[in-house]
Amino acid sequence: MTRRLSLITPSGRLTLGNHLGALRPMAASADSDAFYGLSDLHALTLPHEPSVLRTRTEEMALLLMASGLEPAALFIQSHVPAHRSLSYLLECVAHTGELGRMIQFKEKSRRVGASVRASLFTYPVLMAADILLYGATEVPVGDDQRQHVELARDIAVRFNTTYGRVFSVPQAVHPEAGARVMDLADPTRKMSKSAGDAHPGSIFLLDEPDVVRRKVARAVTDSAGDVSRDEERPGVTNLIDILEACGGSAAGLSTYGDLKAAVTDAVVAELEPIQKRYRELAADRTYVTEVYAAGAARCREVTAPVLAAAEAAIGLA
Ligand code: AMP
Repeated sequence: MTRRLSLITPSGRLTLGNHLGALRPMAASADSDAFYGLSDLHALTLPHEPSVLRTRTEEMALLLMASGLEPAALFIQSHVPAHRSLSYLLECVAHTGELGRMIQFKEKSRRVGASVRASLFTYPVLMAADILLYGATEVPVGDDQRQHVELARDIAVRFNTTYGRVFSVPQAVHPEAGARVMDLADPTRKMSKSAGDAHPGSIFLLDEPDVVRRKVARAVTDSAGDVSRDEERPGVTNLIDILEACGGSAAGLSTYGDLKAAVTDAVVAELEPIQKRYRELAADRTYVTEVYAAGAARCREVTAPVLAAAEAAIGLA
């Protein structure tokens, strides 16, 4: 059985990069056997503001629906307690040595400085629980998550060998290179929702047309003045990539001004239906709550037998 499971962490506001690289393809493959969630527990691994997390989670919940993901089971990770329960059992199988080798842990803890949360250290174990609970055999991830999926495999194999076979051993699959949207202000970096809400290089899904226009107008280019892709000119290349990913074409455009106007129009048109649906959903919160309650109920149903089997195998009554 191949089951699609994908989680997005509400660590910032969703960007055009999230839309083109993740949400749009997720919507294309959304069906009743897909599980798409907001990993709010993962957002607790770095310093956070509770009210901001709540607002971001609510906004993202609406945006997932507005992006057309509704045929899948949509859920909020913390509403499915099995994730936390299995995570603890897996902490009893994982070793501190292997967690200490995780590149993301090393990088993020260096950035945080002195008060590194214990949850940042154990985060890959919670991620292993996310994957193993759903019997996901294939996990589509980017390069940055490859090491974490390897760890989930090691934990699954170790658990199965020590306590009896409970888990399917997942495999990381690398989806064909999708749109990779770069930061408009620094086109050598990926556009990231973690760059902050005021970052001028990020286009957010809820940005008004005027805001999109301003950000694109300020996008970094170069002095060559030639509208063509070129590795040495990442700014212009990124604008052309965005234009094409949003259904436009750079053919016949001769100035950066024309290119930026075309990018603005294409992005505004791409975001328009999402924003329209977002506003409708924002006016009908009861419906949104019902969809997420049904999604969480389905998740609890699917994960309960796996958690029960793990508890029984490890010796809990
Ligand atoms: P993140 O925002 O890094 O938590 O990633 C959530 C999902 O969005 C993942 O599937 C990423 O691959 C995708 N994603 C994030 N940023 C970009 C980007 N700039 N371009 C393309 N895909 C992205």
